[in-house]
Amino acid sequence: MPGEFDLIRRRFTRSVTHTDLGVGDDGALFTPRAGMQMVVSTDMLVSGTHFFADVAPELLGWKAAAVNISDMAAMGAEPRWMLLALSLPHLRDEWVAAMASGFHGCCAGFGVDWVGGDTTRGPLNLCPTIIGEVPHGQAIVRSGARAGDDIWVSGVPGLAALGLRALRDDLPLADDWRERCVGALHKPTPRVALGVGLRGLATAALDVSDGLCGDLMHILERSNVAAVLSDVEWPLQPLIAACGDALLARRTFLAGGDDYELLFTAPAHRRAEVEALSLRLALPLARIGAIEAGSPHIELLLDDGSRLPMNTRGFDHFS
Ligand code: ADP
Ligand code: MG
Repeated sequence: MPGEFDLIRRRFTRSVTHTDLGVGDDGALFTPRAGMQMVVSTDMLVSGTHFFADVAPELLGWKAAAVNISDMAAMGAEPRWMLLALSLPHLRDEWVAAMASGFHGCCAGFGVDWVGGDTTRGPLNLCPTIIGEVPHGQAIVRSGARAGDDIWVSGVPGLAALGLRALRDDLPLADDWRERCVGALHKPTPRVALGVGLRGLATAALDVSDGLCGDLMHILERSNVAAVLSDVEWPLQPLIAACGDALLARRTFLAGGDDYELLFTAPAHRRAEVEALSLRLALPLARIGAIEAGSPHIELLLDDGSRLPMNTRGFDHFS
């Protein structure tokens, strides 16, 4: 069906700002800036696993772009170019137009050129590839956490998981909060400015996609260190306000996925710099624990000074 595919391709042909040759040829051409290292990543969204098949296409397009841009944020990189490999059960122009508009809107909002992709018939599946740039040697990787570092997280991890439960399990949420939680699920904000601001300051970082504890374990394993969490500064108030259940709020904070907040470590003596960055970006950053020497595991520090081993499993697609 070349006609229909042609139509789709036209939907995907958008103006570009820093690309030599975009959609329309066998490949795209672009020129990395001098002194930059390129960062590339891909993150797939599968119908029924990562989203409901009947989700609004504009939101789906946004989210597919956002979760990929978020991987650049987690590396301290600027997102620059995006491709979208797409499999669709049927070609509905209206659906494709709305999805493309959400996808392109997110790309454009973060300075990303949409430069190509692939389109095929099959089960609904979106697989973007993102390419970013970071000054040579300045990428923030997962392996740099050291004993004595603080552990920080941006925003309020858990809102998206409450949104998911509101939709899937009919978990009742306070009215104004329902919108915010479902919004966090459908329209996550990649923390690009935070990632860039953390270059040279964070010792390790990642974006929280599967749950805070499970994702923290990735840093601990790559850095070969342990973590002790203390709940004093956890941003639980919004979660409690949303669901009215303090225990559920804590569980959701620790294990809920899909918020795409940044979890990072930074030396304790640079705490004031992290706080200044939070102010400059008007983005709450919460100090949720500390890195210790030891084999990779997480403990929770209780009020009486005792320690509780934490269940470190976040949301695992194969469990
Ligand atoms: P080829 O025959 O070389 O595989 P295609 O016919 O698949 O090329 O694609 C032609 C052009 O349309 C290419 O530039 C490709 O990048 C673009 N394109 C196809 N699908 C998408 C998509 N989902 N998003 C962006 N560009 C796309
Ligand atoms: Mg070709």
